Amino acid sequence: MELRLYDTLSREKRAFVPLDAKNVRMYVCGPTVYDFAHIGNARPVIVFDVLFRLLRHLYGEAHVTYVRNITDVDDKINDRAARDFPGLPLNEAIRKVTEQTGQQFHADVDALGALRPSVEPRATEHIGEMREIIERLIAGGFAYAAEDHVLFSPQAMNAANSELPRYGALSKRSLDEMIAGARVDVAPYKRDATDFVLWKPSKPGEPSWPSPAGIKAEGRPGWHVECSAMAWKHLGEQFDIHGGGIDLVFPHHENEVAQTCCAFHQQRMANYWMHNGFLQVESEKMSKSLGNFITIHELLADWPGEVLRLNMLKTHYTSPIDWTMKSLEESAKTLNDWYRFAADVAPSKPATSVVDALLDDLNTPQAIAALHGLRNSSDAAGLSASLRLLGFLSESVAQWEGRKRKASGVDAGEIDRLIAERTAARARKDFKESDRIRDELAVKGVVIKDGKDADGKPVTTWELA
Ligand code: AMP
Ligand code: ZN
Repeated sequence: MELRLYDTLSREKRAFVPLDAKNVRMYVCGPTVYDFAHIGNARPVIVFDVLFRLLRHLYGEAHVTYVRNITDVDDKINDRAARDFPGLPLNEAIRKVTEQTGQQFHADVDALGALRPSVEPRATEHIGEMREIIERLIAGGFAYAAEDHVLFSPQAMNAANSELPRYGALSKRSLDEMIAGARVDVAPYKRDATDFVLWKPSKPGEPSWPSPAGIKAEGRPGWHVECSAMAWKHLGEQFDIHGGGIDLVFPHHENEVAQTCCAFHQQRMANYWMHNGFLQVESEKMSKSLGNFITIHELLADWPGEVLRLNMLKTHYTSPIDWTMKSLEESAKTLNDWYRFAADVAPSKPATSVVDALLDDLNTPQAIAALHGLRNSSDAAGLSASLRLLGFLSESVAQWEGRKRKASGVDAGEIDRLIAERTAARARKDFKESDRIRDELAVKGVVIKDGKDADGKPVTTWELA
């Protein structure tokens, strides 16, 4: 079977043909680092990690380049820095916020079993590339400077009689309708309401860099041009796959296509545009005001990262997910069983049933059904290999069980002490006391089993109910 991917631009599932099978190239929009990432942000991380692993499986580990950026220039970062470190100069405070948040993000996504991308470029390290793209756009007549801003003109793009794509093609919006529906209070420096910012002046104290287009005042880039610059630097003018959440199709990705294609006179930026659906919590949109806003960090205090990963992959990436406690509990149960059955077994090869499901536009629900099939037919080696392909079984059974005990709030030392007391009570035939200790353990969710060791001495083992 061949790999087929759903492409948002052509609105169809197509056979995946890389531009260069020796270097398959994928770009995914990464986090803006100003706070702990929420569980919705984990969705593109996990989905595109599965695709990254699948591409490495198909083309070889050395032949896939995965770029996921870190957006470290943003108003939300500046606000946070001013609030959290009021005593520091803003630039220093910003560095603290982005460093801290970046490290938290890495700790979170490592725990989710996501491989680090091949490159994780930071926006602030690619200002030169952004300026160059902006200069090219001005030279081509697609952008103009006004009042220390540089703006991109979608109307100039669509007026160009050339091989360029039409602005609006990705998000299936008509520019005429956008013009008709534009707000009345348009910024005075814009020629047309639909023009978007490539570069803008910085406020005093904010991070700033020398501006393009002969603008004297220092300034900073708009968000969209950051991704065009980082993708160009690390993947070239055209590459294979561009991904992100569905909310990014418009305006972010539409604008990325416009900038890149007009700057480099290309018909396309990426050959396949992939977008994950949104995640909601217990059937409601996640928001701070509803009080159902959950960070990855908080969930990791209660659940192993692989449980979150499995829970995420039970739904096809293009569909919305309803994130529920019930579903998490089921995922934990499934994974416990798979760990005990397959984690300490040497892997054979990933099962065809699992790989075929993934080849069909990353059909992870079907892949999971195939994993259950392997379990039911007692193919431990096949299950072990297939789970590893999907990014599971990073631990041994012993580590997994130990982590579960810790996560459940049970103190293993305390349990061993109670068991020793019970053994002593039994030795002196104080069965009332030994039963009392058994009950105390049961309340903690610990089930004990009495047996004998190799020398016939009584031993008591325990596990969580
Ligand atoms: P942001 O930091 O908000 O730019 O988001 C980082 C990534 O997470 C983007 O690819 C977003 O599309 C994605 N994302 C944000 N919220 C959700 C959500 N609730 N469900 C799924 N993906 C999301
Ligand atoms: Zn982006």
